Amino acid sequence: MSSFKTLDDLPADLTGQVALVRVDLNLPMKDGAATDVTRVEAAKPTILELTDKGAKVLLLAHFGRPKGQRNSTMTTSFVQGDVDAVLGKEIMFIPEVMGPVVEQSIGILRAGDIGLLENVRFWPGEESNDPDFAKGIAAHGDFYVNDAFSAAHRAHASTEGLARLLPAYAGRAMEEELKALDAALGAPEQPVAAVVGGAKVSSKLDVLTNLVGKVQHLIIGGGMANTFLAAKGVDVGKSLCEHDLTDTANRIMDEADHAGCTVHLPYDVVVAKEFAANPDSLRTCNVHEVASDEMILDVGPQAVEALGDVLKTCRTLVWNGPLGAFETEPFDAATVALARTAAALTESGSLISVAGGGDTVAALAHAGVKEDFTFVSAAGGAFLEWMEGKDLPGVAALRG
Ligand code: ADP
Ligand code: MG
Repeated sequence: MSSFKTLDDLPADLTGQVALVRVDLNLPMKDGAATDVTRVEAAKPTILELTDKGAKVLLLAHFGRPKGQRNSTMTTSFVQGDVDAVLGKEIMFIPEVMGPVVEQSIGILRAGDIGLLENVRFWPGEESNDPDFAKGIAAHGDFYVNDAFSAAHRAHASTEGLARLLPAYAGRAMEEELKALDAALGAPEQPVAAVVGGAKVSSKLDVLTNLVGKVQHLIIGGGMANTFLAAKGVDVGKSLCEHDLTDTANRIMDEADHAGCTVHLPYDVVVAKEFAANPDSLRTCNVHEVASDEMILDVGPQAVEALGDVLKTCRTLVWNGPLGAFETEPFDAATVALARTAAALTESGSLISVAGGGDTVAALAHAGVKEDFTFVSAAGGAFLEWMEGKDLPGVAALRG
C-alpha cells in the first residue's frame, strides 16, 4: 500500500519542470454554475504545493461524458472561474491536451503558474487508454501526479496510461484517501464492523461477498436487509425486496458463518402502507409482524440500539449505504442515530470510522456528523470498487 511515491519524493525545487496533474473537476453544475466546489478544494493542497516549489502545473480532468468528441457544452473552461476562486490565483485555459497549442502555452506560463487543459474525454484515446494518446500528453510533462481517487477505478489514459509513461506520484488527496481506506480494510485495527445499506442487494453483491471475509460484524440495513430477511423466511410484505436473490443472500450468510463474521439483520422495523413523509399508517413492529400491505422503510429503535452496542466493541467501522429511506421523515431515524453513535465513538478515540457512497455522504451530512468521521470518501464508484476488494487501475499504476 505504501509502495507508491508521494509529493515528498519530489525535489524541493521544481523550477523549470512541468507537472501533469490529474484532478477531479467534474463539478455538479446548475444553470452553468458549479453548485459545489469540494472537488477543487480537495485538489488545492497538491496544486499549490507544486506551484510553490516552482513547477508549471497542467491540470488534466474530465467533465461530463462527451464520448470521445469535442462538445462545447462540456468544456473544462466552464469551471475555470471556480478553480481560480478556490486557488486564489488566475489560471490559463488551454483548449487542447497535446500539440503545439499546449507547447506554446507552456512557453507563456511562468514558474508557479497553472494551466487548465481541455476535457480529456473529448478524445477517444482517453477512455480506450490508447498508448499513443497517452504518449502525446506525456510529451508535455516532466512528471505525473494523480490526485483524483474518484477516477482511479477507470483504466483511462489520464488515470492509468500516463502513470506508466512518466515518473508518477500520488497527490495529497489521493495519499490521504489511500491511507484512510487502508486503515479501514487493508490492515485495520480489529474488530471491524461494516454497515452496508441502501436500496438493493444486486448493486452491492461484490461488496457483501468481499466484506464477509474481512470483517467480524456485517450490519445489513436498508432495502437490502429485506432480501436477507425474506431469505430467512420472514414475510416482508410490500417492502422493496429482490426475491430472486434468495439463494445469493443465503450463500452470503453461509460464507459469513464459515468466516466467523456475524451478520446483523434488524429485528424490529419501521413500516408504513404508503411511502410518504410521516404517513398515518406509520408504526414500529417486530420483523415477524409486518402485514402484507406494509413496507419496511427503516430499521427499528431497538435494533439500532443493539447495533450501537456492537460498534462499541469494535475498533474500525466502514460504512456504505443508509439504513433506511433517509430522504423521507421519519425513515432517517436509524441512519441518523447510528451515525451519531459512530461519530461519538470516533471522537472519543475508540473507533476509526470510514464512510463513502453518494447517498451515504448525504445521509451523514443530514445527521450532522460528516466532519466527525475519521474519513468520508467523496468518490462514489471508486469507493464501491475498493469495498469490493478490487485493485483500482489508477492506484495500481502508481505503484508501478
Ligand atoms: P450509496 O449511494 O450511499 O451507495 P445506495 O444508492 O445504495 O447508497 O442506497 C441509497 C438509497 O437506498 C436511498 O435512496 C434510500 O432511500 C434507499 N433505501 C434505504 N432503505 C430503504 C428501504 N427500506 N426501502 C426503500 N429504499 C430504501
Ligand atoms: Mg446511491
